[in-house]
Amino acid sequence: MSSTEAPSEAGQDFIRDIIRRDLDSGAAEGVVTRFPPEPNGYLHIGHAKSICLNFGVAAEFGGRCNLRFDDTNPTKEEQEFIDGIIEDVRWLGFDWGARVRYASDYFEQLYEWAVHLIRAGRAYVDDQSQEEMRASRGTLTEPGRNSPWRDRTAEENIDLLVRMRAGEFPDGARVLRAKIDMAAGNINLRDPVLYRILHARHPRTGTDWCIYPSYDFAHGQSDAIEGVTHSLCTLEFADHRPLYDWLIEHLPVPSRPRQYEFARLNLTHTLLSKRVLTELVRGGHVDGWDDPRMPTLSGYRRRGVPPEAIRDFVKRIGVARADSMVDVAMLEASIRETLNLTAERRMVVLNPLKVVIENYPEGETEQLDAVNNPSNPDAGTRPVTFSREIYVERDDFMEDPPKKFFRLAPGREVRLRYAYFVTCREVIRDADGEVVELRCTYDPETRGGNTPPDGRKVKGTIHWVSAADSVRAEVRLYEPLFTDPEPEAGGFAAAINPASRQTLVDCRLEPAIVQENSDDAMQFERLGYFVRDPVSTSDHPVFNRTVGLRDSWAKVAGK
Ligand code: ATP
Ligand code: MG
Repeated sequence: MSSTEAPSEAGQDFIRDIIRRDLDSGAAEGVVTRFPPEPNGYLHIGHAKSICLNFGVAAEFGGRCNLRFDDTNPTKEEQEFIDGIIEDVRWLGFDWGARVRYASDYFEQLYEWAVHLIRAGRAYVDDQSQEEMRASRGTLTEPGRNSPWRDRTAEENIDLLVRMRAGEFPDGARVLRAKIDMAAGNINLRDPVLYRILHARHPRTGTDWCIYPSYDFAHGQSDAIEGVTHSLCTLEFADHRPLYDWLIEHLPVPSRPRQYEFARLNLTHTLLSKRVLTELVRGGHVDGWDDPRMPTLSGYRRRGVPPEAIRDFVKRIGVARADSMVDVAMLEASIRETLNLTAERRMVVLNPLKVVIENYPEGETEQLDAVNNPSNPDAGTRPVTFSREIYVERDDFMEDPPKKFFRLAPGREVRLRYAYFVTCREVIRDADGEVVELRCTYDPETRGGNTPPDGRKVKGTIHWVSAADSVRAEVRLYEPLFTDPEPEAGGFAAAINPASRQTLVDCRLEPAIVQENSDDAMQFERLGYFVRDPVSTSDHPVFNRTVGLRDSWAKVAGK
């Protein structure tokens, strides 16, 4: 795997070095950061990296981090996404103090600053169409051409901006542009757009505005208003930094934030782009933003991933200056390690095969002790019911097994976890020849699964549930949404893994699982970690597999 530069110890990376340097030199008096999502979708695990970094450094250096919505594009933004993002950041374990902030809180101030730029001769209203502007912008090797409207007087510009705001012109008729340099090597400095006309209802300001600031005009100024000291963003904004600095320099802003860029998270078998995730949802390729196959925080939550595991993963990958690809197996390792410590063990049979224990008295049952969590003795034990009829996993039986198969087969003896040694005596088939039942005998001297007085050993231990009191349930197993380790974002629909979800409808749970009524992830012994799905009811329990016990995917993919 090609990980990012691993931090030498927790909290060591170039961003923290910069902050330490700024605090030591007095360039910054404290640390204020922000996490600035655009509410045009739900958060994904790439955002978790940014959240942990922004909130993490603020906490480490005794500062604060704001949650600020970058809500400047009303055609794509929705209240549902605002609410979802707030829930997800909180779930991940972070707190932003008294209130959530919004770029839209600053629309009036931003407008005043636009007027300020016009008066200073640093902005103008351009009547060119989008196509004309594109055509005159130039290329990486050729300078752009000045707009014919570039030299309007301040009075004329202000008059037009006022009328743009008043709604006199249709969408796209005019824009306000910064007057910087159409020959600048950095295209972002070739008179970038500051305001555009958009007759669209905004989730927060309703119809108050029909002109909206661009990302570049809103972002740095919002940072300055909030006293942000270190504005941390991903590498694609590096080319915007000269514009960020230009605006801060030419506006009477109350503070001077600085922007720093870090590498975004890329994960194998995963596409981290809100555009792609939106299309997966809209195209019906998944069941919604919180589909357990989605790399969204709501998807991971529904899948049973604890927030600690995501924070642990983000800490392990570190923060670097160069882009790289992180193996999704690393995320799974964090999930397994976190759940191994906390998840209680239970017994569940996914593909049941009935076993009748012929020498066990009919109608009798007994309670045996099962360990709740071998990594935490305090979790204690629970009783499980044993009886004459039980279910075992179909995969744990082979009629004609290879030598190394240590589970059930005709004439072979295995340990039933926490119960007894049993020996398979007979195989019952239905009319089609399919195995429908095994007839076994048990050794009463092996109670609790212990070695009998004669010292006889068995190599295999299998899990089971008592037939009579087990509860039927649906269990959903997941594989990556993309089999390709580095799926292409364009045309991704064709690459969706058709086997990404497998639904098993006749699974048998030990009854404690439904009686406890818990939303905590559990380990189903030998099968992986599982959590109850929100659609689950007492009549129809439904569980999701969070992750298997081993990295079975790497094997399948031949890595
Ligand atoms: P996407 O590329 O998925 O559409 P975005 O960058 O447009 O995401 P925003 O809501 O603007 O989404 O992002 C909020 C913050 O999260 C930004 O500061 C952005 O840099 C950061 N961010 C987005 N994607 C990642 C990622 N994959 N890794 C790290 N940080 C990210
Ligand atoms: Mg963005």
